[in-house]
Amino acid sequence: MMGPSHALSGAAVWLGGSWALEYFANYHQTPLELAVGTAVCAGGALLPDLDLSGRVTAGKGGATVANTFGRVSLFVAEVVEKFSLTVYNLTKMKRDPDRHNGHRTLTHTLPFALGMGALTTWACGAGGKWAVIGILFLMLGLAVRGLLHTWAERAGWIPVTIVSAGAGYATYLYLPAGRGYPLLGIAVGVGCIVHLLGDVITSAGVPILWPVPTGRRLWRMIGAPETFAIAAGGKVETVVLRSAFFIICLAAAFGLAGPTILEQFDIRI
Ligand SMILES: [Zn+2]
Repeated sequence: MMGPSHALSGAAVWLGGSWALEYFANYHQTPLELAVGTAVCAGGALLPDLDLSGRVTAGKGGATVANTFGRVSLFVAEVVEKFSLTVYNLTKMKRDPDRHNGHRTLTHTLPFALGMGALTTWACGAGGKWAVIGILFLMLGLAVRGLLHTWAERAGWIPVTIVSAGAGYATYLYLPAGRGYPLLGIAVGVGCIVHLLGDVITSAGVPILWPVPTGRRLWRMIGAPETFAIAAGGKVETVVLRSAFFIICLAAAFGLAGPTILEQFDIRI
């Protein structure tokens, strides 16, 4: 799937999950917690594609995530791709094919998703104020790039950077440390997992079983069979799936905020 669909699927899963928690487990979140969790999960759903490198000097290519902060993020993508390829080459087993590119390897595994979530929570706790602001800035930047992709692409990386820095700082001022910081880690981890599921329905697949070896392969790509697979950027993805994710977002947001709004206007149904 492409970046904007990944981001929207992350938002849909977070909002839908929050609605389910509210109604079935009575777990209440403030509007700010909901908004931040949704944005961070949408941003996290772009992270795994940081292994798709472009051309740093030309400032072109790469996935949505690699273009968020201009050449800086393109450079990071270059490093992540090469590092992933190195890990692949060092760990591959007899039946794993030769690769010349690290895309859809290390960052497309469950340990990566869990690791990113744990790292985020740890950094927020141990790194203090500037670590939290930095993480919010990065994740909100990805969310803006993914969810508002038409605007972000037209505007370029400078306005995206300014908007996410402002939003990151403002969020830090109001987000409670006790519940807000673990929430950030969970949102990043869930976002990465949602990304993997989005790639599993394509025919290329992802090494979702890693690091469990199967039939002398450590990096077995698990994907949908050709007949059912979603073509990246095709109509099913850009129209059907994106509309479905959007409707889930709207329905969950209404389910979460609706009762409070009705109450405020003293409407009973
Ligand atoms: Zn991917």
